Amino acid sequence: MSEIRFEDVTKIFGRSVEAVKDLSFIIEDGEYVSLIGPSGCGKTTTLRLLAGTILPTKGQIFFNDKPMENVRIQDRNIGFVFQHFAIFPHMTVRENIAYGPTVRGRSRKEIEHLVETALKSVQIGDKAELYPDSLSAPDWQKTALARVLASEAKVLLLDEPLGALDQKIREEFQLFLRDLVKKEKLTAIHVTHDQAEALTISDRVAVMNKGRLIQLGTPTDLIYHPNHLFASFFVGESDFLEGVVIDDTKKEAKVRIGQTIIKVKNMGVEKGKRVAVAVRREFFQVEQFSTKNLSNSLPGIVIEDQFLGLLRRVRIKLENQQIIEAKIHAKHPINFKENEKVRVNIEPSITRCFDYPKEGIASALEM
Ligand code: ADP
Ligand code: MG
Repeated sequence: MSEIRFEDVTKIFGRSVEAVKDLSFIIEDGEYVSLIGPSGCGKTTTLRLLAGTILPTKGQIFFNDKPMENVRIQDRNIGFVFQHFAIFPHMTVRENIAYGPTVRGRSRKEIEHLVETALKSVQIGDKAELYPDSLSAPDWQKTALARVLASEAKVLLLDEPLGALDQKIREEFQLFLRDLVKKEKLTAIHVTHDQAEALTISDRVAVMNKGRLIQLGTPTDLIYHPNHLFASFFVGESDFLEGVVIDDTKKEAKVRIGQTIIKVKNMGVEKGKRVAVAVRREFFQVEQFSTKNLSNSLPGIVIEDQFLGLLRRVRIKLENQQIIEAKIHAKHPINFKENEKVRVNIEPSITRCFDYPKEGIASALEM
């Protein structure tokens, strides 16, 4: 069992660098959680606090309700895998894996069993007698993982573990890693700059910005139900339509954008208030202006329709002069021409409607 709980954890470096601020969350036993956010937002600091290499300035960290304040790194049952993981170059794969249980004073028989089980688990039994310099990058990481398993850690901390792998191998390794964590019943916390990786591999993803936790949710929550302006901005790509609420009484609120009224999902907005309606660029539906039965659409003028491979990016100026970028399927039957009048259809269910930030959108999204 290894449930992890942060209670109002703040870490200040030096006099005033607030690396993480008021972090509170629970990671359940056996969960795979990724941390994403702009560079410098506090991801590595969060991992280091968990590991115990640094201590909180304020707040408490608990493993299974036990405060970690006075628990040393080696007693936290934690294993690490980093991008450039230091496995010992002068030891074979087998010796590297045996290192943990050996320094813990396990018997020869126990060590043998732990090593064999770990080798089998990560599927590198055939490379057990090789030295690290003859291993491929994925096998290097498998050795690091086997070392964690043999040390009997229950919590696995990963900081950009797949950063050195080519894209194709990286995608295979993501599935391997998730399967391993589930099979071994580990609790994993994985830092990555690669959103697609976080969304593929995790049970839940934590979005951080400026030391704060913005949203901790399932991958589908983050794509379909971001509950914060920053989360919908940071995960994937969205446009934010500026509008004013004219009816807040129904499940779908009415919002005026330019001269047009559209329905949006009502997330508790108030009549008369300025709002930012977030829409994922892949969810806009662009049609010729003459198209009928587009009940919830905004008129606009095409600026350009650009081929991106599997998708096309259609830049459109709306009647309120705001420019949006719709990502449509490359096979969409119509190639839009510059200055062509179009309708941008918006399904109410895919909208997220936030109070317009007082400081303006750009400041609210500052990283
Ligand atoms: P991330 O891993 O998300 O890129 P970090 O957790 O490494 O971010 O850093 C968060 C903030 O704390 C950054 O502003 C960074 O410069 C600062 N920071 C991290 N470690 C230290 C340290 N040992 N001393 C001073 N400042 C630090
Ligand atoms: Mg980092």
